[in-house]
Amino acid sequence: MELIENAHERAFRSSVREFVANKLPQDLRDKVQSFKRLERADYVRWHSIIAEQGWSGPNWPREYGGPGWNAIERKIFDEECFVAGAPRLIPHVNMICPVLHRYGSPAQKERFIDRIYRLQDWWCQGYSEPGAGSDLASLKTRAVREGDHYIVNGQKTWTTWAHWADWMFCLVRTSPTGKPQASISFLLIDMKTPGLTVRPVISADGAHDLNEVFFDDVKVPVENLVGEENQGWTIAKFLLAHERTDLAGVGLCKRFLQFIRRAIVPLLQEQPRPAATTRLIERYHQLEMEAVAHEWTVLRVLSGDDRGETASAAASILKIRSTELQQAMTALMVDCAGPGGMRYLSAAREEAWHGEIPGGDLHNALVAHYLDWRKVTVFGGTTEVQKNIVAKTLLGL
Ligand SMILES: Cc1cc2nc3c(=O)[nH]c(=O)nc-3n(C[C@H](O)[C@H](O)[C@H](O)COP(=O)(O)OP(=O)(O)OC[C@H]3O[C@@H](n4cnc5c(N)ncnc54)[C@H](O)[C@@H]3O)c2cc1C
Repeated sequence: MELIENAHERAFRSSVREFVANKLPQDLRDKVQSFKRLERADYVRWHSIIAEQGWSGPNWPREYGGPGWNAIERKIFDEECFVAGAPRLIPHVNMICPVLHRYGSPAQKERFIDRIYRLQDWWCQGYSEPGAGSDLASLKTRAVREGDHYIVNGQKTWTTWAHWADWMFCLVRTSPTGKPQASISFLLIDMKTPGLTVRPVISADGAHDLNEVFFDDVKVPVENLVGEENQGWTIAKFLLAHERTDLAGVGLCKRFLQFIRRAIVPLLQEQPRPAATTRLIERYHQLEMEAVAHEWTVLRVLSGDDRGETASAAASILKIRSTELQQAMTALMVDCAGPGGMRYLSAAREEAWHGEIPGGDLHNALVAHYLDWRKVTVFGGTTEVQKNIVAKTLLGL
């Protein structure tokens, strides 16, 4: 295993760094670095710049129109974008496109892939339901075939960005009998279809990213079925594997450490230094070291030392470790904010806000990070479920 970047990787890093430095619009960078809320248009703007460069869909091989990067190159790209303050690339692009390439009909590929690549259509993921999150196979949203259509009834929940979405890739139950996993299908649903209602779910930080989606006799053409009827579980697992490769979070941890440094630097002027400040600095250095250790573990996994069964356990371990680190970092952020952080104002994160921010701009952003990041141990497979995978595949329990 080689932990030091080779000449090719160093050159690749420089080219990505230069590209981002030249192409990332300053107002977008400012918005990200001050942790203002991003709008759909902000993501689309950055995505279009990336697509123009041929880098949209960093996980895609060349034959799918992607850049054909290996895992180390993807990590470098991700890291450079995060550290420079770029908006994240929309994860759904990396999820639905590989599915369409592998399982989609020629007509589906023709209709959707290029538009996804350019983020001309925004997609959301309709998997989870009330009572069917970790135990996804128990989902109840029903699709009944009537002639050339499926009639869909039921509910999805926690659907990220459904209120911005043009399309949803959705798991539905197409047979009331048989093994739960063998009666699920994968449908593409136009979000403008009559009978489909989106309702907001407001998060702890006051943001509207999540939604509930209700289906009331929603008519979906049969040509929007991906793969075979009742093959949805296989497709869903294929897609989740792509989702989980994105969750190691090295770039994000580096961005968080930058943020904490901004909060700690002013404290260094205090003389004599209060014991509480010394403790914050110690915690910062501890997390910095743990982030380096995490990065080395990620590199070890990416360099292919772990294969087969252990690779799935490795992905789970990385997700657990990454989310633990992110939560420890955001907890340190809120402690750095101190009493100023108690006056968190959600509305001040909107671009249009020009009023006073009671606790100050930086402190408001630090607390917002803390509140927002409680979610990371839940989405993409909860920590407990990841631990089950490790226990089963690695420890044989
Ligand atoms: C911010 C955010 C964004 C999301 N975006 C989307 C999205 O866009 N699309 C989508 O489909 N879903 C989305 N989700 C849903 C997410 O996938 C689910 O929340 C997740 O799968 C957990 O399901 P649940 O919420 O139903 O919790 P449950 O599965 O009910 O779990 C509740 C608790 O029980 C524990 N638990 C469950 N099963 C076991 C077990 N076998 N062993 C030990 N402990 C267990 C869990 O770890 C958890 O602590 C999102 C969630 C969040 C928080």
